[in-house]
This record gives sequence, structure tokens and C-alpha cells, in this order.
Amino acid sequence: KVKENGRNGIAFFEQAMQIAASERLSVETELRVAVSKCEFVLFYQPQFDALEQRIVGAEALIRWMHPTKGLTGPMGFIHVLEESGMILEVGTWVLGRACQFIAELLRQGHINPEEFSLSVNISPRQFRQPDFVDQVRHAIESRGVPARCLKLEITENIVIQNISDTIAKMQELRDMGVRFALDDFGTGYSSLSYLKRLPLDLLKIDQSFIRDCTRDANDAEIVRAIIAMARNLRLELIAEGVETQEQLDFLQTQSCHAFQGYLYSPPVAEGDFVRILKRDSHALPLP
Ligand code: C2E
Ligand code: MG
Ligand code: MG
Ligand code: MG
Repeated sequence: KVKENGRNGIAFFEQAMQIAASERLSVETELRVAVSKCEFVLFYQPQFDALEQRIVGAEALIRWMHPTKGLTGPMGFIHVLEESGMILEVGTWVLGRACQFIAELLRQGHINPEEFSLSVNISPRQFRQPDFVDQVRHAIESRGVPARCLKLEITENIVIQNISDTIAKMQELRDMGVRFALDDFGTGYSSLSYLKRLPLDLLKIDQSFIRDCTRDANDAEIVRAIIAMARNLRLELIAEGVETQEQLDFLQTQSCHAFQGYLYSPPVAEGDFVRILKRDSHALPLP
């Protein structure tokens, strides 16, 4: 009897593995088509400064316009793109599209180049390409965008691979005027001594700490510590995933005023983003 159950257990496990593997394969196959047809779009989430009461930037977030399933977020496919190498082609497209959008916003007078930057997420594989710096330079220069309007979001995973190469690339890009944010801060494995060596401009407090910072004393303490550390390292700060006024109030008592999250706006399509910019532009100095 026991033996039979054991057999069934193994059979069940093997079946589940097979289903997982074939699902993964079909996602990958569908993604190859998606890449060749460019079924992707960028959404934009405003970044708001609650003290200055104005939009200080936005983050570009990829979406897949699946022909039958509709719009899907990156959690289900970004790792497949990364593991299969397709992220290189998609990442180049994202950079180009983001720079084109900056150029359009500038041309239409919706943003002031001194007061606005668009953040783009860079995957480890993309960053490790030997010609990454040239790719970014090309994306900016071919669209005539001021480099300071572009921010690159990297994660601690990039850093732990090869710190001297990471620093060299970041330095070269920063010399051009491009700025860097460390995304999902606090969730990775890098040590603070690494962090100190990186030529960063900004830290993003991960939403996992924000979520419970008004209910959980430990999370509140972590957020306080991150804010204090950013101040010591002279880094700008932005809080991710702010959903409630209470969370924002807590952050503001700690002098962290810049945030993105559903409280202000979810990521939205281009047209909606422009409408939000226009709606709140009374607080924007004229270009
Ligand atoms: P991320 O860079 O940390 O982006 C923040 C995520 O939080 C986004 O998820 C955003 O939609 C979500 N978010 C924003 N406000 C709130 C909020 O108030 N509450 C909650 N619960 N969530 C909020 P999304 O768009 O699903 O993106 C997930 C991740 O996929 C991103 O995390 C980023 O790591 C990656 N990603 C997105 N676009 C790209 C891309 O173009 N290239 C690369 N390499 N990765 C990307
Ligand atoms: Mg990000
Ligand atoms: Mg993040
Ligand atoms: Mg995140």
C-alpha cells in the first residue's frame, strides 16, 4: 500500500514537472513570436514629490500585448527573456522607446529637462554586454535627448557579478550625464561596502519594506535605517509601492518625500501619462 502511494507520488511529481517544463517551453515559443512582432509596450508610472507637489520623473515598465490573453505584466515573462537571452533584443528596444518618449515629451513641452527623468530597468545580462555603454549612448544621441533625463535602474544582482566592470561602466555613463538608481534596495545580497563603492545617484526603497512599515515595527526600523544610510551616502531616495496615505505620512516624517505607488498612480499607458502630466503641471515651472 505504502509502496503504491509512493509510486503514485512519484508519477504525480513527474507529471507536474512535465507540465511545468512544457508550459515554460510554450511561453518561450510565444515570446519568440512576441519579440519578432514586437508585441511589447511601455507603461509609465509617475514619481511624485510630496513636498514639492510635483512629478519629478517616471519609471518605464514593460507590458506584453498578447494577441489573445491581452495585456500582461513582466513578472510572468521577464525571467524567461533573461534566461533565453531574448532580453538583449527587448532591452535595446526598451531603451530606444524610452528615449523616444522623452524626446516627444520635451518637444511637446510637457516636461522640463532640468526637472524630469525617466527611469529604465536594466537586467544583469543586458548590463554585462561589452557594448552596453555604446548602446545607451546611441539610444540617447540618436533621439537628441539630454543624458540627464535618463536614469538606469540596476539591482544588487548586477553588482555582485563583477564589481570593477560595473563601476567602470557606470562611471563612463555618468560622465555622459546618465544617472543610476539602485532598485529593490535591501532585498539582495550585496554588502554595504559594495554599495559605498558604486557611483550611484539614488536608492529605491523596496516595496516589501514599505508594505508594512505602518504596522510592523521591524519594517519601520528598516525603512528608517535605509533613509539614514542614503542621507549619509548623499544619495537621493525614492520609495516604491506606496499605496496608502499612512505610508506616505510615515515616510515624510522621516524626510523621504519622493515616491511612486498606487496612492498617486499605477503605471499607465502613454496617453494617460501625458494627461496626468498636464493635470498636475500647474506645479511645474515652465520650461
Ligand atoms: P520594479 O522595477 O521594482 O518595478 C516596480 C513594480 O511595482 C512594477 O511591477 C509596478 O507596477 C509595481 N508597483 C508600482 N506601484 C505599486 C504599488 O503601489 N503597489 C504594488 N503592490 N506594486 C506596485 P511590474 O510592472 O509588474 O514590474 C515588475 C518588475 O519587472 C520590475 O520591478 C522590474 O524588475 C521588471 N521590469 C519591468 N519592466 C522591465 C524592463 O523594461 N526591463 C527589465 N529588465 N525589467 C523590467
Ligand atoms: Mg524598477
Ligand atoms: Mg523596484
Ligand atoms: Mg520590485
